[in-house]
This record gives sequence, C-alpha cells and structure tokens, in this order.
Amino acid sequence: MSEVPPEIDAERRRIVDELGRMGFTLPGSIVTRTVTCGRATCRCASDPDQRHGPYIQWSRTVKGRTVNKMLTPEQLERYQPWIDNSRRLRQLAHQLETLSLDALHTAEGWKR
Ligand SMILES: [Zn+2]
Repeated sequence: MSEVPPEIDAERRRIVDELGRMGFTLPGSIVTRTVTCGRATCRCASDPDQRHGPYIQWSRTVKGRTVNKMLTPEQLERYQPWIDNSRRLRQLAHQLETLSLDALHTAEGWKR
C-alpha cells in the first residue's frame, strides 16, 4: 500500500486550516425586492418606479419550505459575511471530498 502523496496532503491541510478559521455560517440567500401594496389608489399600482421598498429579504429552505425574513440594511451588513461563509463552507467541503477521492485513487493505484 502506498502513501498519500505529500502535495495532496498539503492541499488537505490548506483546506482544513481555512475551515478552522471559518466564522459563523448562515444558510440561505439575500434577495432585494420592491413590492406593490395592493391598494388600487396607491401610486405603486400603476407606476413600477413607485413600488415600495426596496426590502431586503433573507430566504432559506426549512424542511422543504422557503422561509423569508426581512432584514434591515444594518442587519444585512452584519450577516452578509455569514451568508458568504456558508457558500465558502460548501466549496471547501466539495474540494476536500474531491481531494480525498484523489488520495484514495492514488494510494490504491485505482483507475478513475
Ligand atoms: Zn402602494
């Protein structure tokens, strides 16, 4: 049985180091939208430029359902990095799995 090549292990350590420095991670995404209020007499009913908002909406899926929560601009500023971290976490997890498959195939001499 051969060893995992040092360059693959070095790459693994780079990924794990970054994971170790990761802050909070929030699932979901941010959508900024303008809305109509539904009152026929309101300006928003006829003029798209007069729609209300923009409102900042944080959307995520909970048990198969989309859950929305309104955020203030100040909250968005605070939590956007957490949401960005969540995407990075998924990227890193994917990289680590791909790398692990490389390590397995290399160590065992298996064809891809
Ligand atoms: Zn309106």
